[in-house]
Amino acid sequence: MELSIVIPAYNEAESLTELIQWIRRVTDPLNLPYEIWVVDDGSSDGTWEVLQTLKAAHAPYLHAVRFAQNYGKSAALYTGFQKAKGKVIITLDADLQDSPDEIPALYRMIVQEGYDLVSGWKKHRRDPPSKTIPSRIFNFVVRLFTGIPLHDFNSGIKAYRSLVAKSLDLYGEMHRYIPYLVKASGFRRIGEKVVMHYPRKYGRTKFGWERFLYGFLDLLTVSFLVRFGRRPMHFFGGMGILAFVVGLILVGWLVADKLYQLRVYGAVRREVVQQPLFYLGLVAVVVGVQLFLAGFLGELLLRQSPQRHNYLILEEL
Ligand code: UDP
Ligand code: MG
Repeated sequence: MELSIVIPAYNEAESLTELIQWIRRVTDPLNLPYEIWVVDDGSSDGTWEVLQTLKAAHAPYLHAVRFAQNYGKSAALYTGFQKAKGKVIITLDADLQDSPDEIPALYRMIVQEGYDLVSGWKKHRRDPPSKTIPSRIFNFVVRLFTGIPLHDFNSGIKAYRSLVAKSLDLYGEMHRYIPYLVKASGFRRIGEKVVMHYPRKYGRTKFGWERFLYGFLDLLTVSFLVRFGRRPMHFFGGMGILAFVVGLILVGWLVADKLYQLRVYGAVRREVVQQPLFYLGLVAVVVGVQLFLAGFLGELLLRQSPQRHNYLILEEL
């Protein structure tokens, strides 16, 4: 199999017929073995019935799986990637906002130009400003955080070398950070292609304003996991030592000062417990110990997790 097209679909019944026809119009003339995988992410609008009808008309090309409930876009992509057999895997949104006309060029960028991942850039994005403006800020922050010079991290249209897609451990809403995860897995050739973008024709968007809040929290999670996922003690222990030592110095200083005053003047001007520094020091010591505990717990959890030996082998001779 040369090419797999993976499409996550949640309540996209109205769009799918047009989308599949359009994909076939573009992909049939390429004359290469390809397949389409639609993942119905627990739709309740008849998406699955539409897929059953489409299967009859596009039998050898079209495949579909149906989730028991709405697990989210990351879960749908993950499942599509596991099913896909193509050397190149291309994802598209189901809502006709991404253009199947991009498929041939994306395919060539992977096969001929040797990219591991090509991410679509919706340069002229056809969405309301309530979405495009926060999205610019979001992309700016992610660029700063990750050091990857992409304009559009979270576009639904992307092309992957098979191994790259299959090694992605997507869950929750991690699909927003696919280029970062790909880079963190050790793949270097990450590219970008300006793509057409259309306004949503049918149905409505599945992500509201919360996307930005959740997106930012996920960015913290992802960058923590990428950096310290396999060595949590280095993160927590580092901060723990700092807090503990600062606390110890503060408390030690207060005690030494008291002993000195007792010795020299026979009395103290202020009791230790009447000084703000004492409470600061106390809190710092306690926080430091807590951080250490978190680090040890992290290491214990990691020891239980099969993930800790999840080493990606690129090639074998
Ligand atoms: N999607 C999904 N599961 C979800 C939410 C969305 O599979 O829980 C799919 C949706 O059907 C579409 C793609 O993800 O194919 C992008 O969703 P949407 O168009 O709503 O996002 P937007 O274009 O507004 O960013
Ligand atoms: Mg959309």
